[in-house]
Amino acid sequence: AAGLRRSIIDPVIRRLAVFGRYVTSKEVRDLLRAIEAGEMTPIYQPIMDASGRRIVGVEALVRWQRADASLVPPAQFIPLAEGAGLIARIGELVLRRACLDTRDWAALTVAINVSPMQIQSEGFAAGMLAILAELDFPPARLVVEITESALLGDDPVVHRQIAALRAAGIAIALDDFGTGFASLSYLRRFRFDELKIDKSFTDGVDSSTDAAAIVEATVSMALALGMKVVAEGVERVEQHRFLVSAGVHYMQGYLFGRPQRAAEITARLAAHPA
Ligand code: C2E
Ligand code: MG
Ligand code: MG
Ligand code: MG
Repeated sequence: AAGLRRSIIDPVIRRLAVFGRYVTSKEVRDLLRAIEAGEMTPIYQPIMDASGRRIVGVEALVRWQRADASLVPPAQFIPLAEGAGLIARIGELVLRRACLDTRDWAALTVAINVSPMQIQSEGFAAGMLAILAELDFPPARLVVEITESALLGDDPVVHRQIAALRAAGIAIALDDFGTGFASLSYLRRFRFDELKIDKSFTDGVDSSTDAAAIVEATVSMALALGMKVVAEGVERVEQHRFLVSAGVHYMQGYLFGRPQRAAEITARLAAHPA
């Protein structure tokens, strides 16, 4: 009886909760409308091998495509979506779209950003795997990017989600590496496949010996722990040259390609087959 009562009352409470936000915030109302109107869509940034010549994967980066075709960057709506409990819905839309858009890109990996709130929820891994199965997308081509803040508190729920994703063949990347704290202890407790060196370090590798030393240390630690390293935000040839000499495995940045629409990646792959 309690279960039945809950099944009747829960949806009502949830609707009221949404309604409460509905009347209190115009921004949330706009966001919800955009989600429902299908205005949330990913674009894709190439991830290159160390040489910078071959695309080995893409990172899906969400944009709010407004009716006038303008693209709103995630910094302007992700925090709001997280606060309003709408990030999981956006995450699902991005995942579904990315699976369909990238289906024919042969062996390219597809990296998806996941907010702490998503991976801290118990059904997350199962939900993601169900979507991949439904869309017939091979889990081995997917990379889930999480940030250090998702690991705070050493939450057993997060451990379980990561373990379930990895068991299914999905790779886990630690995004913005170096910007959080306690990273070293988390590296021992969680198993990651990749570390993504934050752009703030990449920025300095050709001008600051500190940044260069941090990148070198990150690479040797990653090698010892069996992880690959991706450098984010590579903009200059000098940076690329240093990163290659430091042993960084994969490169991502405007030097190789900005985030772009699926059709542009398709054209690029056709012009330069692997
Ligand atoms: P991120 O995951 O660290 O993504 C890398 C960001 O750096 C992207 O910004 C990308 O456009 C930018 N970037 C890449 N190379 C360069 C470069 O050479 N120079 C410069 N100046 N920037 C470069 P973007 O697309 O604005 O995304 C910002 C953040 O929003 C992402 O950072 C990620 O944390 C979050 N995000 C993006 N898409 C999603 C999503 O679908 N879900 C969630 N939860 N978060 C997302
Ligand atoms: Mg990322
Ligand atoms: Mg990043
Ligand atoms: Mg970053």
